[in-house]
Amino acid sequence: MKKQIQILINGKKIKAQEGDTIYEVAKRNNIEIPLLCFHPDLEIKANCRICAVELAEKRDLVASCSTRVKEGMEIITDSLKVKKARKINLELIFAQHKEECVDCVWRFNCQLLKLAKKYDVIINRFKDRKTRFPIYQFKNAIIFDSGKCIDCRNCVEVCHKQGVDFLELEEKKHLFHIVPSEKLNRDCVYCGQCIVHCPVGAFEGVGEFEDIEKPLKEKDKIVVAQFAPSIRTSLGEEFGLPYGEVVTGKITAALRKLGFNKVFDTSVGADFTTSEESKEVVERIKNNSLLPVLTSCCPAWVKFIEFFYPEFVPNLTTAKSPQSMLGGLIKTYWAKKENIDPKKIIVVSIMPCVAKKYEVEREEQLFDGLKPVDYILTTRELARLIMKNEIDFKKLKSENLDSAFGEPSGAGVIYGASGGVMESAFRTTYFRLTGKELKKVDFEEVRGIQGIKKAEVKIGPNCHKIAVVNGLGNAKKLLEEIKANPKEKYTCIEVMACPGGCIGGGGQPMPCYPEIRQKRAESLYDIDSKKKLRKAHENPIVKKIYSEFLDKDEKLRRSILHTYYHKKEKEGFTILDLNNK
Ligand code: SF4
Ligand code: SF4
Ligand code: SF4
Repeated sequence: MKKQIQILINGKKIKAQEGDTIYEVAKRNNIEIPLLCFHPDLEIKANCRICAVELAEKRDLVASCSTRVKEGMEIITDSLKVKKARKINLELIFAQHKEECVDCVWRFNCQLLKLAKKYDVIINRFKDRKTRFPIYQFKNAIIFDSGKCIDCRNCVEVCHKQGVDFLELEEKKHLFHIVPSEKLNRDCVYCGQCIVHCPVGAFEGVGEFEDIEKPLKEKDKIVVAQFAPSIRTSLGEEFGLPYGEVVTGKITAALRKLGFNKVFDTSVGADFTTSEESKEVVERIKNNSLLPVLTSCCPAWVKFIEFFYPEFVPNLTTAKSPQSMLGGLIKTYWAKKENIDPKKIIVVSIMPCVAKKYEVEREEQLFDGLKPVDYILTTRELARLIMKNEIDFKKLKSENLDSAFGEPSGAGVIYGASGGVMESAFRTTYFRLTGKELKKVDFEEVRGIQGIKKAEVKIGPNCHKIAVVNGLGNAKKLLEEIKANPKEKYTCIEVMACPGGCIGGGGQPMPCYPEIRQKRAESLYDIDSKKKLRKAHENPIVKKIYSEFLDKDEKLRRSILHTYYHKKEKEGFTILDLNNK
């Protein structure tokens, strides 16, 4: 139990707990202190010094995010000295940061610009020192404009936390550079966590929202949208709606207004993924081979295995991800039904994820020479497209999905949160192994934000050890644990690269803090709990498509619903603007 102490903030007596930071105590008491580089997922580094406050006794300035309170401490948060220091710190930050506000990922919510206004900062008082710094691209997924960097080091830390260490800090001519690693054993996995942890928008996903404007206008193209489970509880934030508000019907309406010919729900694709994945789980349990089964619907995790742990590649399920399965079914089953040439269909997936941009370009995803999905828009990109087209999202009336792929089960919707894939797989695997329906479908042990969740599930006479992991650093820990102790046998392991799963994905609205992720996840579980249909294998549209189409041609079923993986060599990066080097 922490010791209670008393301090003074701006002359007001305040009770605090020993060990708390000044910032924490101020926040609890509604005393405003600005922050910039602080992110609750990361260590406190106190690099930007925007949160400076004054200690009355010594008239010292300290960073409130890292300074701990002591009995009798007297703190001033708004003295002239404090204001001056914040203003100078901001000017120095602007001297490093190349302002390109129009295209910035933070453009509607930029803390740096808000602070500049508040402290009357002349943002171009000093010449930008990094205008000639390079812009890097990591495959077709991430752009990193190092000229915008303000040296907070959040990206280096988060990339390290992900167990990847692709970003490194270099000092050249008294300036710090964040650089992608040249080392052969380091490579990006495109999780996009550097994007959501950079306070100044130096990282962003490779933009595709302008590329789809042309096909949307072409009369001979059928442009079909599908949107991921987690989008429905996050997109609203971009339009000022409360965190976690469910906007499924508004998304459908917005996509139609943008000109999409059809709108489907990727959660139905998740029901197909569960169907195929649980068949693999059952088969491997029966044959006692290739255990633990490793889930494979997160492309950043797949790349992590292929590059860092290729010895585990055979353990990955071959079932494609939900968007890939649904994309494939749109271009085959639906195209045939509607008598449309699949080459005329453009499938656009709205995803919480930048790694999905990488996934759809993998040749291992092709079937019959066709890509299941043609473009990926992140949640942020869809918001941008909606704003660009002046659609008043808040006022949109909810619309229903197009009917060809029906409605998803609740199990398909919870794919968006860490644990959802496992919960869905076990609702169906239980039925497949025992022939009986699971009565209590809620699998609380695998829910929540902890990095590694372990549980034992009883199915028939056997007990199965399972693990659910979010964050690749945690996955690395678990894989090392398994390698060190091969006797510890898991049946199945779910890994999602992002904190909390896709609700914390690199393409999601920002900021993306733990309490926001929690609200997004709670809303997904709420949708599931209110549904009658909560198991993938009970979904009538899934049953229908298997019996009418997929079960009739095994080769076709495998090509649409399955893929393969293999060891990957370093894919590295390119420098976009050589003249700026
Ligand atoms: S790129 Fe962004 S997150 Fe990385 S050090 Fe620079 S400012 Fe910080
Ligand atoms: S996308 Fe992920 S792996 Fe790649 S640099 Fe960013 S944090 Fe590191
Ligand atoms: S957890 Fe989800 S959002 Fe994050 S990389 Fe994986 S699939 Fe993408």
